[in-house]
Amino acid sequence: MNDEEKSKEELLNELAELRQSLPGFEESYQRHKQDKLDVIEANKQSTFQAQRVPLALIKWSVDFTVVEWSDMAEHIFGFTRDEVVGKSGFDMIIPESNQKLAKDLWQQLLTSDGGHRTISVNIAKDGTRLLCEWHNTPHTNDEGVVVGVASLVQDISGRKQAEGELKEYIDELVLLVKDRSIELMREVERHRQAEDELQLFRAALDSSADNIFLTDRATMHFVDVNDAACKDIGYTREEFLQMGPHDIKPDYNLHTMVREFDEVLRSEGEVGVIETIHMKKDGTQFPVELLLHSIMSGGRDIIVAVARDITERKVFENRLKRLSTTDELTQALNRRKYLEIMEREVERVKRHATPLSLLIFDIDHFKVVNDTHGHDVGDEVLKAVANLVRDNVRKVDYFVRWGGEEFVIITPDTEIYKAIIFAEKLRARMEEKVFDKVGTITISIGVSTFEKDDTQETLMKRADEALYQAKQTGRNKVVSTEDLQAGNVPQ
Ligand code: GH3
Ligand code: MG
Ligand code: MG
Repeated sequence: MNDEEKSKEELLNELAELRQSLPGFEESYQRHKQDKLDVIEANKQSTFQAQRVPLALIKWSVDFTVVEWSDMAEHIFGFTRDEVVGKSGFDMIIPESNQKLAKDLWQQLLTSDGGHRTISVNIAKDGTRLLCEWHNTPHTNDEGVVVGVASLVQDISGRKQAEGELKEYIDELVLLVKDRSIELMREVERHRQAEDELQLFRAALDSSADNIFLTDRATMHFVDVNDAACKDIGYTREEFLQMGPHDIKPDYNLHTMVREFDEVLRSEGEVGVIETIHMKKDGTQFPVELLLHSIMSGGRDIIVAVARDITERKVFENRLKRLSTTDELTQALNRRKYLEIMEREVERVKRHATPLSLLIFDIDHFKVVNDTHGHDVGDEVLKAVANLVRDNVRKVDYFVRWGGEEFVIITPDTEIYKAIIFAEKLRARMEEKVFDKVGTITISIGVSTFEKDDTQETLMKRADEALYQAKQTGRNKVVSTEDLQAGNVPQ
């Protein structure tokens, strides 16, 4: 057989073989064509999905070699398509520590049916660790043999973190709600207590006989008053709430009231007791003793004023004061007051070199009055003498009962000659006056004037000497220290 024949034979054999395999080839071709179309369709689908959700599409061959790598896969893992296609996934995106697990999963994937959803730690090109959610679907051929795997991957690092944060946030909220409920319950309890206390406070306020006023320092308006205040001052509570403390204090205006209250605030509490005047709705004024406090309430400075009517006490005090300075029978100043005045007057005379004269007089033969008409009539005479003196002295003069039926008149800013004239006038008036039951009486008067180096004692001593001389030389007369010095006592 020649070469040509041989090759012809071979060719025929080949042709026969080809003819035999042709139906299979056709079939295979058709199948491949369909496969390709499926893949294209799948690609189209996955690309579409990948554009809408941040899902990466990766296709693997069974040996975990990358076959396809979508744009989102590039975005998530940082590797470009060119860098990964044809390479092993293990080397790129599985961290060392997870490689065994990944291999096991891969084996499971290749041997079992259906998809796999796993969450795994992966690693990006720059080394960043990512948390990824994988949806892996094995691809099988007609014989059911796995020929590759398609994976949809989502980077859920952010989501997990967000979920974690959300959980923490919810935990926090739960705690917060718990705390808040406890707090609310406490607050409710506090409110209840506060209400009880408020009622108690009101009851306490209203049971007080003192007038209690609460003033908001910022507005200078009353914010509350008690029953006693309403009753005693005469305004209703509603009327009071339109007013301020200065409206019931005639000796204060708004300005001075503010100053007073600020003083209370500065002293951070009590300012002690002050005495002032309150005015009723009808205009009547009465003295009060005022206790001032400041309290903080709802962020406001509240001034609490507790006012006690001291009318009776004042009357009593005034009486005491008068008693301590005046003689009860004649209402002339007493000796204690005399000393107080003289101390002041002597000081004044020394400082200003003004004149000061002193008169002392004694009723002549007063014993006779008592003996004749009785002590009570004697008392009436003493009162009448005192009235007569009061009618004749100046406002600046001081009239003192020295003792018994002896009286002293201090005449400030008065030279001796004026004092003598005055003494003479007084003596004459006394002589002229007709006293009830007793008729006329006379007095003897000694007059002295303040000299350099005098004290109140020496001044009095000289006046007393003059009086003595007046008595000695016949009574019903005025003798001055000048007369004594001149040796010229009037007869
Ligand atoms: P003379 O002219 O010397 O002063 O005579 P006299 O009688 O006034 O004598 P003297 O001043 O020594 O006496 C004072 C008398 O005044 C004695 C006393 O009984 C009387 N007397 C003193 N105080 C009171 C008083 O408060 N009431 C009454 N009724 N008599 C008084
Ligand atoms: Mg006398
Ligand atoms: Mg006397």
